Amino acid sequence: MDKTKGEILADNLFDKKENGWLKDNDTKEIMLFAESYMNCLNKAKTERQFIKKAKQELEMVGFKDINTLDNLKTGDKVYYINRDKGLFASVIGEEPLADGMQLVGAHVDSPRLDLRPNPLYETDDLAFFKTRYYGGIKTYQWTTIPLNLYGVVTKADGTVIDVNIGNQASDPVFVITDLLPHLAYKQEKKSLGDGIEGEDLNILIGSMPFKDDKVSDKVKLNILDILNKKYGITERDFISAELELVPAFEARSLGFDKSMVAGYGQDDKVCAYTSLIALLNVKNNKKTATLILADKEEIGSMGNTGMYSNTFEYYVNLLLEKTGQNDFNKVNTVLCHSKLLSADVTAAYDPNFADVFEKNNESFINKGVSINKYTGGRGKSGASDANSEFVGYVRGILEKNNITYQLTDMGKIGMGGGGTIAYILANRGMDVIDLGVPVLSMHSPYEVTSKFDIYMAYLTYKAFYQG
Ligand code: MN
Ligand code: MN
Repeated sequence: MDKTKGEILADNLFDKKENGWLKDNDTKEIMLFAESYMNCLNKAKTERQFIKKAKQELEMVGFKDINTLDNLKTGDKVYYINRDKGLFASVIGEEPLADGMQLVGAHVDSPRLDLRPNPLYETDDLAFFKTRYYGGIKTYQWTTIPLNLYGVVTKADGTVIDVNIGNQASDPVFVITDLLPHLAYKQEKKSLGDGIEGEDLNILIGSMPFKDDKVSDKVKLNILDILNKKYGITERDFISAELELVPAFEARSLGFDKSMVAGYGQDDKVCAYTSLIALLNVKNNKKTATLILADKEEIGSMGNTGMYSNTFEYYVNLLLEKTGQNDFNKVNTVLCHSKLLSADVTAAYDPNFADVFEKNNESFINKGVSINKYTGGRGKSGASDANSEFVGYVRGILEKNNITYQLTDMGKIGMGGGGTIAYILANRGMDVIDLGVPVLSMHSPYEVTSKFDIYMAYLTYKAFYQG
């Protein structure tokens, strides 16, 4: 039957936001990609672990440490590692750097619990670690879940000891206890935010006393004895440690249809992973393609591994010098002519909490990569707000490559807000827009993404690097 005039018009004029699974896709390829991603999530839960994994992936396809090379030419592949917690990597393009680079920037830190400088104490025959949470968390979500302990301890003589408790099946887990409902009458009267306070996030780490009547704090002593035998450390060595507690949950396929991924740290390892794998596949690129994996995004991007750090300019200088193009100190020229996708996750619409969302302007699971023209809260406060021309440019790439995308906001006005690394690089003169994967239960110990959207992110970053 012929379509009516109205049906034809509607086909042509309405912006149809279709579920991506309904389109022609290689479902097998999407599922396979998600498998490797989940594998990575399980091996790389902290920023240090992710950077280590990224280095391996890069080296496997011929990327070299930029510090080991004197000269760079078109097609060369290099990386720079910033204090084991951040990374820049590039495939040198045909065109001069001063004409700008094509960049994708994600972050590799995720909300977690950090040990305090003096973490270990004993009370009532139980030993605990004191923590300070890192990033925005809902404190109550972190009780009664299994936790792993990862990080490093640096001794006064400079020796760095790797701590990894959780990757072996025989490893113990750690936990924060919560009050039983039978005695929680008063606790349950409190607001959700006050029920478990920051100071309540104490990690239970032992209960067995050291057998010696002459000493006090026997449980604590026994723990220190175990740590000393295993790592050669004493209580004072915690002062110069960087130890993080992260959920022990394994990333798994979610749902009977296995259409989603449930896992810890998907903000922002879902974008870090897809942008990394995309860079591995870049070739014959005109502009230099560069990946940024930043640390400290969750706490404001400060510090020498955060996006505010001049380490990035330092890296651009290295690229200029080694390609023989640094005659007039061109760093600013490169920055002002570059284009960046700030690859970060955004909130997915959750029908269980519909009242905080403005349905016409939200990201939906399975509707492709989500583009955020601006972040911030209220009146776009603190947003870099990409210009129309750049949004058009990005759309052009997506549509040419048949990539499913949605252009969205985040929540009703006045419900809150957020930020990414976007404005930091936009302030340096680049064209920047946020583009990433929608996430359910963001910043929780077990975040949810769609396998379709993950694959779309990979395709987007790959196409963007190529320019
Ligand atoms: Mn993020
Ligand atoms: Mn975040």
